[in-house]
Amino acid sequence: MTKKIFLGIISICVISMLAAIFLITAGLYGRSAEVAASEVKTNARLIASAVEQGGGVYLERTDFGKDIRVTWINSDGKVIYDSEEDPDVLENHSDREEVSKALESGEGSASRYSSTIMQKTVNHAVRLADGSVIRVSGVHSSLMAELVKVINPMLGILAAVVFFSVLAASMVSRNIVKPINDIDLAHPKIKKNYKELAPLLEKLRTQNNKVSRQMDELQSSREQFSLMTESMTEGLIITDPKLIVLACNSSALRLLGAGSFTKGQSIYALNNSDVFRHCLLNALGGRRSECILRTGNGQREVIASPANSIDMVCGLVVFIMDVTEKQELETMRREFTSNVSHELKTPLTTIYGIADMLANGMVQSGDVAEFGGNIRSEAERLINLINDIVSLSKLDEDTAPRESESVELYSLAEEVLERLSLSAEEKGVTASISGERVSLLGSRTILSEVLYNLCDNAIKYNVSGGSLSVKISHVPQRAIITVSDTGMGIPKQYIGRIFERFYRVDKSRSSRIKGTGLGLSIVKHGVIYHNGTVSVKSEEGKGTVFTVELPIEKKQHNEE
Ligand code: ADP
Repeated sequence: MTKKIFLGIISICVISMLAAIFLITAGLYGRSAEVAASEVKTNARLIASAVEQGGGVYLERTDFGKDIRVTWINSDGKVIYDSEEDPDVLENHSDREEVSKALESGEGSASRYSSTIMQKTVNHAVRLADGSVIRVSGVHSSLMAELVKVINPMLGILAAVVFFSVLAASMVSRNIVKPINDIDLAHPKIKKNYKELAPLLEKLRTQNNKVSRQMDELQSSREQFSLMTESMTEGLIITDPKLIVLACNSSALRLLGAGSFTKGQSIYALNNSDVFRHCLLNALGGRRSECILRTGNGQREVIASPANSIDMVCGLVVFIMDVTEKQELETMRREFTSNVSHELKTPLTTIYGIADMLANGMVQSGDVAEFGGNIRSEAERLINLINDIVSLSKLDEDTAPRESESVELYSLAEEVLERLSLSAEEKGVTASISGERVSLLGSRTILSEVLYNLCDNAIKYNVSGGSLSVKISHVPQRAIITVSDTGMGIPKQYIGRIFERFYRVDKSRSSRIKGTGLGLSIVKHGVIYHNGTVSVKSEEGKGTVFTVELPIEKKQHNEE
């Protein structure tokens, strides 16, 4: 802006200066031309009157100098006298404009311009009484010649004007721009001397207010957005079409296992796996895309949706959900179904085989009792299995009766040991109970199943002559049931898995002992139902101790 004002001022000065020079010169020239014409006219009249009185002698005797030329022409146009040339060599002058005018009307003027000498000849002719004409010519410089004469001093003046106008222009332009530069854009104030800036400052102030209002709104909606996304357990990432992350909540970082993230990074900095890339590229193609990511700490479902604007994908919205549990449950469900089918099929196949032999009369009458016993034992196994599955699915589906009665554990344990006394006797295991009477609020049926399964295992996996002891005790607010045996124990490497459904330690050893592999799952879920915990300590060849801790005041199950 300073430069423009500066150049503008200088141009105006130079143009004005040149115009002034031209106009002054032209004005002066016009004036001097008039003076020259008037001088020539006066001279012509004076000389004409002198010739009228003194005749040609006056002309011969007078020296007219170099400034004027006097010519005497008779009425035919023939030159009789000329102050500069021999009249005989001069051509007829009757066609000269001033001469023909004088011949016609007494006096005549005309001027002629010579481009070669850049001069103008001013002529005036006066007719004498005898019809002859006196013509006086004077020479006057042309405008161009006048200009050429004054050009040098004028150039000097022009240079001086340019110099001073440069100084003035730079000062003026700086002074004009300074108050504009000095405006405090954040808090524009009108200064007394610069009232012209008032509309601009007013506009600035309005704009400032508008921008600040919009910034506040933007900030508050940004805070709202971040508050909402930060409270989400799902991960949310928003990217531009080049996959540069525009927004990302902390759940996304956690679920993708990414340490930190800086704005402007590519989404691949958060996860660079082929599956993830493929999913995002599909979404960039305009289709919603899903994939399952396996990260160090679980499985994630990723849903990438394109954000479309008209026909273009202008970014991606990526949702990340933790599906570890869902996937594990799905795996468990599949395993459970296949295990159940297998466990049901085995006894049924045996029953079918024996029944087939009996039906075809292939069994001798002496063996019928033994075959019948086999069928009973396989049917028993089936019934146990089905009972276990029913108990477990009730616990699973939360359809177990919500009993909340007072259950006295010592007498419950006595009942369970009573039910198992026959099998203990058969195995040669001595069962005992100790401790104190502890009551808690809970489900008698479920607690009975928990105790039954623990004691049943303590007998089944015991050795002949071994022992089983149940102890009921309590610490503040918690009842403790300890079931210890002196049996075969559980090898260390299997301990972590014994609570899984259908898991049986070392199939060869378990195949000798009847079981479904569901007993400890029922124990685990029964204890969870009562908000308790179960732990196990075992030493191979020495025995096993299961400890169950239950809160005495059972919380309502649906309060968990
Ligand atoms: P099962 O029907 O086979 O007894 P469980 O779920 O009750 O199924 O037990 C799972 C596995 O844990 C059993 O196959 C057994 O090998 C082991 N186990 C459970 N309790 C004991 C115990 N008291 N002593 C030794 N091993 C045990």
